[in-house]
Amino acid sequence: MNIWGKLKDFIFQDVDNENETKRAAVIIRLFSLIMCFYFIIQMIVYCLCAEWFSAVVSILCLCGYVTAFYNSYRNRTQFTVIYTIVSTILWVVLYVYLFGWDCGAQHFLFALLVFLVVVSHVSSVGKISMAALLCAIRLGLFWYTRVHEPFLTLSERFGILLQVINTVIIFSLITVIVVMFSKDSLSMEKKLVEYNEKLKEVSLRDPLTKLYNRRAMLEYLEHLTKESEKAGKGFDIAIGDIDFFKNINDTYGHTAGDVVLEKIAELLSGYMKNKGNVCRWGGEEFLLVFNGINGEEATAELENIRNLIANTEILYNNQAIRITMTFGLDEYSSHHPIDETLKSADNKLYIGKNTGRNRVVF
Ligand code: GH3
Ligand code: MG
Ligand code: MG
Repeated sequence: MNIWGKLKDFIFQDVDNENETKRAAVIIRLFSLIMCFYFIIQMIVYCLCAEWFSAVVSILCLCGYVTAFYNSYRNRTQFTVIYTIVSTILWVVLYVYLFGWDCGAQHFLFALLVFLVVVSHVSSVGKISMAALLCAIRLGLFWYTRVHEPFLTLSERFGILLQVINTVIIFSLITVIVVMFSKDSLSMEKKLVEYNEKLKEVSLRDPLTKLYNRRAMLEYLEHLTKESEKAGKGFDIAIGDIDFFKNINDTYGHTAGDVVLEKIAELLSGYMKNKGNVCRWGGEEFLLVFNGINGEEATAELENIRNLIANTEILYNNQAIRITMTFGLDEYSSHHPIDETLKSADNKLYIGKNTGRNRVVF
């Protein structure tokens, strides 16, 4: 890795503490680095002009930002934010006191305002109060420099040079803070959207069969009833239950029972593709929805499914397991509560169980 890559990794290094955000730490680091650069330039210029007192002041300010940079690696982000805010205010006040309004240090309060709004954890009221404080400090400095002469007088050439450097540095600070903030917000937003989608998918799927679960089906049915009311068309609901499933568990073991459920889910979802929808309604019960066909047609489809299942051998540990299913079917017509259709399908399933199982009752 080249030096630039290493430097980037070093600056963008994550914080160890889970309560701290990487974004705040990175913004502090970049803010401190730009300020260090600023004071190094100042120090060089002051040394070249043999302004030793001013050079010492720049070195002290430089040390302040080196400390801020160092602290951002010590999992003390919020402390470093406060430290950076306080030390920036102090040097701005010191500079305006020493060199007067023309040194332009007061403009750094704008960059500081953006910094504190972005990285500070205080409430909105706290941030507004701090903004008001910065505003008051700037007005106070303005008033002070109108009444008092500066401690040191800047030469005109040096004043112009300082204005140019200040402008570049303040623009750099604000740009870096805003770019880092928006970049991080966008990536966080993207992550959150992806995570929410994943979470939604997990909450709507049955972990064993990977079919939609009862919650997902209820949402789907709600949507379907609204659509059906608009279009004036009904749909069919069937509840299917595996016959004597308890015996499968008792004979072959619970894992075999799970394998059977997975296989049935696979058969049902394969058959229902483009015909409607299917979910795991509960234990060994599945709910099927047929769109765009009437009860007689749905009965014929269920007969196909029933035969398919009855004629399938499910292999578990080299043993062939055969099962059958019973179905209760009812038609949903608009303007009726969906619960009535579900109840009716369930009653018909019950009738099927009591009249020999392995059948479709409509
Ligand atoms: P019936 O023909 O009347 O429906 O008889 P049944 O044995 O299928 O019905 P019963 O309600 O007596 O038993 C259902 C069994 O399904 C009991 C329960 O342990 C089993 N079961 C429910 N969920 C699961 C599961 O996720 N895995 C396994 N292996 N078994 C399950
Ligand atoms: Mg059963
Ligand atoms: Mg059951």
